[in-house]
Parts: sequence; C-alpha cells; structure tokens
Amino acid sequence: MEEFIKTTVYKEERFKGNKKETDITVHVLEKDLDACAFIQQRLTTINTSKDANFRTVNSASLQNQKNGYFLFSCKRSGACTQRSQRAKGCKAYVSFKKRTDWLNKLVIVERLYTIHSGHDPSSSSEGHLENISQELVKHIQDLISLVVKPDTILLKSHEWSKEQGHTDLNNRAYFVTPKDIENIRTCMMRKNQQHKDDATSTSRLLEGPFKDYVIFYQPYSPQTDLVIVLQTLSMRDNLQEYGRDIVFMDATHGVNQYGFPLFTLLVRDSHGHGIPVTYIILGNEKQETLHLALEELKPTFPVPPRNMNLRRNLRCFTASLRT
Ligand SMILES: [Zn+2]
Repeated sequence: MEEFIKTTVYKEERFKGNKKETDITVHVLEKDLDACAFIQQRLTTINTSKDANFRTVNSASLQNQKNGYFLFSCKRSGACTQRSQRAKGCKAYVSFKKRTDWLNKLVIVERLYTIHSGHDPSSSSEGHLENISQELVKHIQDLISLVVKPDTILLKSHEWSKEQGHTDLNNRAYFVTPKDIENIRTCMMRKNQQHKDDATSTSRLLEGPFKDYVIFYQPYSPQTDLVIVLQTLSMRDNLQEYGRDIVFMDATHGVNQYGFPLFTLLVRDSHGHGIPVTYIILGNEKQETLHLALEELKPTFPVPPRNMNLRRNLRCFTASLRT
C-alpha cells in the first residue's frame, strides 16, 4: 500500500510543472504523526547533509501555510538592494506539502531544488569569520575595544589592508563589510557574557576577571542601590601621581542600555590633559548613592580629599574634589 501511494503521488507531483532538477520525495507516514516535527527534522537533516543553508522559518504565504505548505528558501534568497554586500536572489529551496487526500496515511511531498546561484554553499567558510585574515580580525577587535565607531573601523581596516599590500577589494579576507565588523563585535560580546542575566553576568565579571579593578561593588537589591567603582592599575598610578591638586568629575548619560549614569573622575596631567582615574556606575542619581561611592573611593587618593563639593545643578560638571 505504502509503495502504491508513493508511486501514485510521485507521478502526480512530477506533472505539476516543476523544474526537472527538483528532487521530489514522497513520505508516507502514520496518520497521527506530528507533521511539523517531521518537517523540522527533515530540514535539519538536509541542512547538515547537503551543505545546504536553508532558512528554518516557513516563508510560504499565509494562505499557502493554511493549506499545509512549508517553504524554506536559501539564506541568500531575497531581493538585491544597493546596500547588499553579498550575492542575493538565490533560488534554491526546500518545500513540504501535506496531502490530505489519503485518508489512512499522512502524506508529505518534499521538493528539493539545490541549484544555488551567486554563491557556493559547500564552501565551509561561507559567511563565517574564518574567512577574514586573523591578523585583520585582531586589528578590528582592538579598534572595537577602543570604542571606535563602526564607520571609522571600516575605513581604518581598509587602510590597514592596503598598507599590507592588498588591492583586490573583492577579497573578503582583507576587505571586510560592515556586517563582518558587527559579527566580530557580537563574538567579542559573547565571550564576555558570563550569564544570560545581565546582573549575574556583571557580578561574575566583577568578582572574577576584573576583581583587581574593583574598588567597590554593591549589587542592586530592593534594599541597596547599584554602585560600581572601577579603577585599573594605570588609573591608580595616575591618581597617585596627579591627584594631589584637583580632581574633576563628569557625569555622562546614555552610555548603557539601562540608563545608569556614568561618572568619570579626571586628573590633569603635566601637559594639561585630562586623564580618567576612576569610573563610577550608579543605579540612580541620588546624592546618597554618589556619596557612598565617593566615600569608598577616598582611600585611593594620595592625600585624603578635604572636601567634596557636589554641584548637582550643573549638567556635566557634577562635582570637584579639592584636596
Ligand atoms: Zn543559495
């Protein structure tokens, strides 16, 4: 019976005017099997075994979806736009159609069209960072850590590649796209992410790899405000050297996704340049919270500050510590 269904359905489907390169497979399954689960499983198998790179979201129209049709197109499908950095418009796809005309069986017709256009899905490095020169990745990571803007990173990385003697702008090993830079940034963020919950992740970082830089850390709780006072070893040296006269404090807003204010303490070096000597992140702008942070900071000064004037109404210039 199963063979009979397979042959009949195959013949019917073959007639439906598909390209001859389309592979048709008819699956005859038990009536009560979960069709969606079966289809997802087939998709995974195809994606891993055939060097394919099909999307995992059903892109059939809603009307077709209602009729039991599933369409998974190549990740390089879609319209080309001026901003596209790579080949698009690939026509490869895999689709599944549930047929309801066989009463005792669940029949699923699978169509697989694997002729990709404009790209080679079997190249294992496609779309991955391994494609980019590791030296260049390192260079871009350095720029990202220095909080250089993505546009500038793009320019600088191209300049860097030209300095190394590379001229072929299509060579993705040396000429990266904005998307590559974004991917490198995401990878860096993931490495630093200790836990999916930001508060836990912060605690782990401050109690782990960064603990030498933490002057004071009070996690947020219903009873306590968030206070983070950070000072790297070179900041500490600069504070010791230049922190005798006057220390400036500057509040910046909008530097993190939580809207927590960032206070930067600056000293003036021998050239008259301001250099940061402490960062303070607070959960709110209450005077008591800031006061607590500054009290904890006091012991790191070369001479204890005599008074702290907090001038709250000045927008950027919140306080000056006089010694
Ligand atoms: Zn493709």
